Amino acid sequence: MIEAAGRLYEHNAPAARLYMTTTHFLMTRHLDTQLLHTGSPAFDPDTGVAPVNVPTVRTSTVRFASTDAFAQVMQRRRAGERIPSYGRQGMATHQALQDAIALLEGGSRCFLTPSGVSAISLAFLALVKPGDHVLVPDSVYGPVRKLDRSILRRLGIDVEYYPPGAAASDIRLRPNTRLLYIESPGSLLFEMQDLPALASLARAQGATVVADNTWGAGYLYRPLALGADISVVAATKYIAGHSDVMMGAVVAADAELAARLDDTHYALGLTVGADEASLALRGMRTLPVRLAQHQRNLEAVLPFLARHPGVARLWCPAWPEDPGHELWRRDCQGANGLLSISLNTTDVMAARRFVDALALFGIGYSWGGYESLVSLVEPADLAAHSAYAGSQPVVRLHIGLEHADDLIADLRQAFAAAGLE
Ligand SMILES: *Cc1c(COP(=O)(O)O)cnc(C)c1O
Repeated sequence: MIEAAGRLYEHNAPAARLYMTTTHFLMTRHLDTQLLHTGSPAFDPDTGVAPVNVPTVRTSTVRFASTDAFAQVMQRRRAGERIPSYGRQGMATHQALQDAIALLEGGSRCFLTPSGVSAISLAFLALVKPGDHVLVPDSVYGPVRKLDRSILRRLGIDVEYYPPGAAASDIRLRPNTRLLYIESPGSLLFEMQDLPALASLARAQGATVVADNTWGAGYLYRPLALGADISVVAATKYIAGHSDVMMGAVVAADAELAARLDDTHYALGLTVGADEASLALRGMRTLPVRLAQHQRNLEAVLPFLARHPGVARLWCPAWPEDPGHELWRRDCQGANGLLSISLNTTDVMAARRFVDALALFGIGYSWGGYESLVSLVEPADLAAHSAYAGSQPVVRLHIGLEHADDLIADLRQAFAAAGLE
């Protein structure tokens, strides 16, 4: 079902690969194969033995063999090599993860941050200056509005929200529009955006296109290949995949943007722990098989929900009746476990009974782990989405890796418990 599994991707092998075997032989293999083998530790030259996994290298600083070695490292760093000279940059574990995420996204360089939100903030702060205008879809992940209100506004940056469904010809860039932000599909209602059309509009005006690719995790959706300049991903979700890591990543398409991100990343002092990097790398090895199973379960649950009288509407671009379905077919290589439903009621108490009655879906934010989750979407969050018109409560579901029959049975009994039949 997921076509990405059958595609070949090429990537630019990043220059420095300390502690790792060369991966040139991987470059023509399928992405799934590359994800399993990238970063493989080199054999010990003495014994010819190597571990399977990249070691977790925890360190706050690095030691240099001599002042001469120190001087040479500094010189090579100035020439653009990624040799660690201090703990904040991380060592083999970080480098392997950065390379793997750059590989996934098809970018030139990846920067790790302590959360998805910090990755978004890094991208904005690397690109904008006072007086700039920025366009953000109204379907954007909620905390981006907080970044706007708490920091961007104070810096004199004018953020304008546009409808994600607008045709590119209806979007007005200004002479000072520096950044066009895209989140496709959007948060909560999964509105698809025409990234290639928006990117060519932005390019004509010299604006940089930043895409939040948390939904696609670099595997189901490839913003850089579709025209974005920077891809941002919350590795917290599908990349780590087990609800036990907070992490973000920013991937630049080219070296010039990478240099700007590098400076801001350094100035903000962003870093992640080696244990987190190790867990994220471990999660990424199974990203393709987990996503394929999330999609199979989603495909089992969608028709059940579509036929259920308790459901007024499905929000999921993989569903043929969704307004974003054509763009999803064109631009995505599959689906994950995410969907929302508008309930067939205006009674918020019935919605709360439905959510409370679910036994297998944990109530909570986030998604992308192996487990099912549910959240009753706040009406204030929906009011900000131009795609939403109505008064029916919306429930977001993350379809996990439990057996689909059990998930459907759980949903069925919860509708009954809520009187939504
Ligand atoms: C969760 C999420 C983020 C933020 O990730 P955190 O690691 O929780 O900070 C960013 N964008 C989207 C679309 C998300 O769903």
